[in-house]
Amino acid sequence: MVRVGLAMLQGARHEHAEALRAASSQLHQEIEIVELRRAVEVNEHLDCLILPGGESTAMRKASQSESLLSALYSWMEQYPQRPVLGTCAGAILLANPGEAQSPFLRAGISRNAWGRQRDSFEAEVEVSLDTPSGGRISTKIATRDQFNHQPLPVGDTASLNTNSTFHGVFIRAPRFEQTSVECIPVATLGEEIVGVLDGSRLALTFHPELTGDYRFHRWLIHQANVTQ
Ligand code: GLN
Repeated sequence: MVRVGLAMLQGARHEHAEALRAASSQLHQEIEIVELRRAVEVNEHLDCLILPGGESTAMRKASQSESLLSALYSWMEQYPQRPVLGTCAGAILLANPGEAQSPFLRAGISRNAWGRQRDSFEAEVEVSLDTPSGGRISTKIATRDQFNHQPLPVGDTASLNTNSTFHGVFIRAPRFEQTSVECIPVATLGEEIVGVLDGSRLALTFHPELTGDYRFHRWLIHQANVTQ
């Protein structure tokens, strides 16, 4: 069993829960999604963490009453091996925890650096992260027809997407300004780095939970399992 902590501050958190459920069935790996709203819910039983996208300023404000963010940062300090996925605003929170140099994501990041809401875009991103492949999900075995003919099983082909391009959804996305040597680029859009891995922390400037391709969620669950 892998326990995934999901920060419920604001933003695309429910979409991440859906993506996690799909990735869990693709991997045949049982998970428990632990919705995190208060600092006391962040504990040693969490195997990995998701910081969703949304609006980082709103997230920082939402965190004030229950101190969720500082609990998440302490958890990351305490369990540096456990994987974390930060998407868009989540990547901003990893790179800018409020101190000068982030120990979590050693990269500079600039908010809203592609422009305004209307400058949001979708584009194919080149991915070089090793992600576990997912089996077919929701395979339906059709019943025999009146001629006793059994049609071939139909699978969910979206889950079989194993090529290296990924459909990136960029919504008022940030941009990495500079990345330190500790940050391995794992997703690029032309010359631009749009995803980095710093130790066990994966930061993406786009929204993988809004596509039918769950490879980053499979990566998180798989990494959590091997570091348990
Ligand atoms: N613009 C947002 C911020 O600055 C991030 C956008 C997103 O998460 N889609 O926090």
